[in-house]
Amino acid sequence: MNDSRSAREFHDGQGEQDCLVEVTGLKKWFPVQKGFIANLLSRGHVDYVKAVDNVSFTIKRGEVLGLAGESGSGKSTIGRLVLRLLDVTEGQVKIDGVDLGTLKREDLRKARSKMQVVFQDPLASLNPRMTVGQAIEHPAQIHMPDTTPEERKQLVLELLEAVGMAPPEFFYDKYPHQVSGGQRQRIVLARALITRPELIVADEPIASADVSVQALLLELMIKLKNEFDLTYLFITHDLATTKYICDRIAIMYLGKIVEIGALDEVFNSPLHPYTRSLLAAVPVPDPRHRRTEPLPQGEIPNPINPPAGCHFHPRCPIAVEGVCDVEDPDMESSVASKEHLAACHLRTGKYQHLDPKRT
Ligand code: SF4
Repeated sequence: MNDSRSAREFHDGQGEQDCLVEVTGLKKWFPVQKGFIANLLSRGHVDYVKAVDNVSFTIKRGEVLGLAGESGSGKSTIGRLVLRLLDVTEGQVKIDGVDLGTLKREDLRKARSKMQVVFQDPLASLNPRMTVGQAIEHPAQIHMPDTTPEERKQLVLELLEAVGMAPPEFFYDKYPHQVSGGQRQRIVLARALITRPELIVADEPIASADVSVQALLLELMIKLKNEFDLTYLFITHDLATTKYICDRIAIMYLGKIVEIGALDEVFNSPLHPYTRSLLAAVPVPDPRHRRTEPLPQGEIPNPINPPAGCHFHPRCPIAVEGVCDVEDPDMESSVASKEHLAACHLRTGKYQHLDPKRT
């Protein structure tokens, strides 16, 4: 890394801007539990699942950053680390300039009212014994103790209307099992909004909805973002949905971000071979369309013992022996844009002359 560049520039090329989320060198390693015999045989050696391994990025205020990758790539763990629902192994998460790792319990509770999460399964997120009204009001009871029950009820009714559940009085006393799956996700969104958060971590927020409802939920998320001045970290395994809501996108592979950039740049000029193969797997509604990129070979490797060098090399169609299996590539910006970065020796690194697609 060039010392003259600031740490923030190194993250994702965004430079000094109105930054709400700033993640630096984030790591989350989970120790692997072993049985008694295995522990004896390994003489106390501890293995770790490197779920998140040295990840850095920023999210500007009002921006939607998509975090995409296969299952097990570490994207949901990042979401939980950003909200401090998990302790970090190493690294820093700053929200609005405040390092969450330095906050005491009470300050962290206050900071949490500014950040909310929406999970994939709304049924699991809602207490079946709470009515819709009680569920939405619950965070306000914790984070807004100065409000009266009447004020909170009024707020709940307004939020139900804002998420398209009208008339709100009709839904207020219903239980989660009495509404549809799409309506449950709307309720979860309303509950997330009651503390007036600035940041919402949306972890596969539409994945469990029917395809016909997914588009409506995405539209609703965009509407709410504009109405409530929200910033989203949008976590998904489905690259196609990012097109409709994200401003920038980060591609994750085996605990690391391998490419990050503006949505158009990543979709139109993907740099990393993994990104190219993910994009090639996105269905195109044209029977004449032919896939131009091969899909990644094999399975995502074991994160306890990731491959040496570039973690993608065993699956990469253009890996160069003696380079890719030896050296771990750094995130480097592309020639075209300093805000479009990738970790690939052949696309942004020092071995670009070895790229077979170089013209
Ligand atoms: Fe493929 Fe090598 Fe680039 Fe990794 S560094 S993505 S193995 S070409």
